[in-house]
Amino acid sequence: MSELISGKIISAQINEELCLEVKQLKTKGIEPCLAVVLVGEDPASEVYVRNKKRTSEEIGMKSIGHNLPDTTTQRELETLIQSLNADPAVHGILCQFPLPEGLDEKKVIQTIAPEKDVDGLHPLNAGLIAMGIPKFISCTPYGVLQMLKRSGISTSGKNAVVLGRSNLVGRPIATLLSSKGWDATVTVCHSRTSDLAEVTSQADILIAAIGIPEFVKANMVKPGAVVIDVGINRIDDPNKAKGTRLVGDVAFEEVAAKASFITPVPGGVGPMTIAMLMVNTVNAARWQNGLTEMDL
Ligand code: NAD
Repeated sequence: MSELISGKIISAQINEELCLEVKQLKTKGIEPCLAVVLVGEDPASEVYVRNKKRTSEEIGMKSIGHNLPDTTTQRELETLIQSLNADPAVHGILCQFPLPEGLDEKKVIQTIAPEKDVDGLHPLNAGLIAMGIPKFISCTPYGVLQMLKRSGISTSGKNAVVLGRSNLVGRPIATLLSSKGWDATVTVCHSRTSDLAEVTSQADILIAAIGIPEFVKANMVKPGAVVIDVGINRIDDPNKAKGTRLVGDVAFEEVAAKASFITPVPGGVGPMTIAMLMVNTVNAARWQNGLTEMDL
């Protein structure tokens, strides 16, 4: 049976480190501040935004919410972001996606000042990752790296297979794992990959980020592999009070019996993503005040 990598435990450790860090920054007159922009009333987005606000408060950081109606125009949204870009009291800006239909996410990402882009999605920050000199790393990939590091899992010289090539998750994880310092040999798989099970079976480290419930089965996994499940999928379950439950992209029970390490869903990568958003915001405040980043 494999060892569980708990995102709950690791993110709680990081949040404790952040608490101390924020306290110290406040003694220097610096109060890290995250602005969170939510457009419309998507229930899942409302939950994510609430969680981000709650975690900010828990670590002693300021967060400002901007809730806009779903009738907001592209211009109005960009005007708000520009005003946050210009506000020296705001260190990080996050616009919760998906946006209501008619609004252009790519344009919004490019409107956020790169030095306040705590989601790490601006082309400049994506480019710095590609060049091997990352500044802001998008929160989910950053969380995955911290889980590996803090679980004592070496990636150097290992075969890593990343399932999924999205700009948000798969692509940056693959780029980072192949970069200097992480030094894995990385294969990226996607919806057109042939002989997928053959490729994934070579992985010492397998990262699933495709958004298909319990897609990765035991026959796709090398014995002793490290399996990181990024997927968050809601499936029907008549045995639950709500009638649904969350599962990852990995068939947990059967894969756990074969892997050396595995992340659960929920309680795995999810809580790490919020913790790394907090790290990015604290680092944004540090950089904007001429300090170096936190040592994680
Ligand atoms: P996405 O839909 O943007 O990308 C999915 C990727 O999977 C695509 O690159 C596609 O080519 C690939 N894919 C689809 N079907 C495939 C198949 N049969 N075989 C191989 N590859 C296939 O999704 P995303 O934004 O990258 O998110 C992926 C999953 O991670 C989702 O379940 C999402 O909810 C979850 N997620 C979790 C967190 C977190 O905090 N834990 C954060 C972001 C996303």
